Amino acid sequence: MSPEVGAAPADGSSPRDHQEHSSSHSAGESHAHGHVPGLPEAVQVYDTTLRDGTQQEGMSLTVEDKLRVAEQLDHLGVAFIEGGWPGANPKDEEFFRRASSELHLGHATLVAFGSTRRPRAAADDDEVLRHLTNAGTSAVCIVAKASDLHVTEALRTSLDEAVAMASDSVAYLRAAGLRVFFDAEHFFDGYRRDPEFALRVLSAAEEAGAEALVLCDTNGGTLPDEVERIVAEVRRRTSAQLGAHFHNDAGCAVANTLAAVRQGATQVQGCVNGYGERAGNADLSATIANLSLKMGVQTIPADRLERLTAVAHHVAELVNLTLDPQRPYVGTAAFAHKAGLHTSALIRRSDAYEHIQPDLVGNGTRVVVSELAGRSTLQMKAAQLGLSLDSPALQRVLDTLKRLEHAGYHFEAADGSLELVMRAASGVRSGLDAFSIESYRVITDWRASPGGDRKAAKGAAGNGAGAAEDRLVHPWSSSGELTTEATVKVHVGEQRIVATAEGNGPVNALDAALRMAVEPHFTALHNVHLTDYRVRVLSSERATGAVTRVLLDTSDADGTWSTIGVSENIIEASWQALVDSVVVALVRAAAGTGSGETASDGGAAEAGEIAILPKEAAAATITVAEVEAI
Ligand SMILES: [Zn+2]
Repeated sequence: MSPEVGAAPADGSSPRDHQEHSSSHSAGESHAHGHVPGLPEAVQVYDTTLRDGTQQEGMSLTVEDKLRVAEQLDHLGVAFIEGGWPGANPKDEEFFRRASSELHLGHATLVAFGSTRRPRAAADDDEVLRHLTNAGTSAVCIVAKASDLHVTEALRTSLDEAVAMASDSVAYLRAAGLRVFFDAEHFFDGYRRDPEFALRVLSAAEEAGAEALVLCDTNGGTLPDEVERIVAEVRRRTSAQLGAHFHNDAGCAVANTLAAVRQGATQVQGCVNGYGERAGNADLSATIANLSLKMGVQTIPADRLERLTAVAHHVAELVNLTLDPQRPYVGTAAFAHKAGLHTSALIRRSDAYEHIQPDLVGNGTRVVVSELAGRSTLQMKAAQLGLSLDSPALQRVLDTLKRLEHAGYHFEAADGSLELVMRAASGVRSGLDAFSIESYRVITDWRASPGGDRKAAKGAAGNGAGAAEDRLVHPWSSSGELTTEATVKVHVGEQRIVATAEGNGPVNALDAALRMAVEPHFTALHNVHLTDYRVRVLSSERATGAVTRVLLDTSDADGTWSTIGVSENIIEASWQALVDSVVVALVRAAAGTGSGETASDGGAAEAGEIAILPKEAAAATITVAEVEAI
């Protein structure tokens, strides 16, 4: 079907494009091995995040989300984006409808997914196939059963009919002028049971005009040595382009993809961040990085590899799932170093403890500080912050960390609070004293609804109207209204500000009141918002009881930082972390390392410069309040 593997550019580009890609690939990348004989020169990267990836538990994307994810994938430079299954649900149908006018792909080809025709029916009047031809894409992918067990048990039809279903469906779609990719479902399990049937299905699709035969490990339990053996055997039986689609149930999805490529597969399917049902699909970031940087196989355009980390994080934001910090290549911990011994060597030779230069994939070396850390770790961290710490200052930081970590603080998870400790020790106080706190108070108040007994609550729920009635109520308790209000008193310059806010809980109310009090005075705080709140109760060595550790994540346009608070009182622990989260934004603005208008000034701005409060403001008390039901 397609020419000999490796002889032609697999991404559908012209030979001229291909040469340009190849030459830029080898230029200036010390980690990239040259082209390895026996390996394909290039593979097509086929992303199925929007179809297979959305099977992941907890992932629910709107059409808008899907369009934004597709833009990111195109920005990364994948060859194909599988957008969904038109006809299977109205959302995917709307996606394809809107994609044809709203999605402007510069690099990728959008693919619609579906299945073969039903058993004992004609392709002409099959609804699934009709939806595919109406999706408005130039390419489609259909799935067919390649395991005899699934044909006889799930489809309850004959093997001959299953082969005809594959053949008819591909022919129908080709006649409609579409490029057709063919997903052979349960291929590896099917091949183990009945290789002749699995190969018959492939041949039928190839003869009917399928462009690539994609070997799927649908249950995800195959190991790499078996993948190598089976793909090599298939390779000997067909000259068609082969694709690889692996699930990660045995933790081998990426390894299996690489094994398939070693045996000549030239289309690699997977999902950003390894999203997918159960243990997920093959992680495309690791697949791309391994192929490009370690195997010398071209994937996405070489000059876009450095986009891998940013795209992985951006997509994680769009699908609203926290990215696993340990995700290879792109996770925040992928190049994080903790032990002091490592980091002193890391300063001298970064390649001694890192398998690639992190910037090749757009990531960076991160030094994680804890009481285990030595002076060299702290020095490196200080250098990253643009601070110079002399020997006594360094010792002060070490002593502080040791004392606080003993009390339950955990600085490796709180880079923001650590930054404050280091800045305070360095003597550069810009931003640290931007405001001071006089007091804070939080009140939580519950009162029964008038006549709010158990019967009334049940009756209200039965009516099913209004948010208050829908509130989760223990069936044995009476219904009521819960309100939380916080008041914060702070001083900015000569001004005293009293702010009161309501919230859906004590931390939310405190955060709202603190922001209301200080945000109007500092431009650096305008885009700052909390993104995560985690509480852990630690058993204390002391007999007095447990302490609570609170970790907050905060983001602005330039990044994310974590702050920490520890106390026997959860409100106090939360307050410490909240105040730190605001102060980090201010010190970064003052130092010109973060957001805020002072960033362009650089260098040592005075603390006063980050305040937009008129200095001549009278020493009066300003009272602000937001009373609003949430
Ligand atoms: Zn799959």
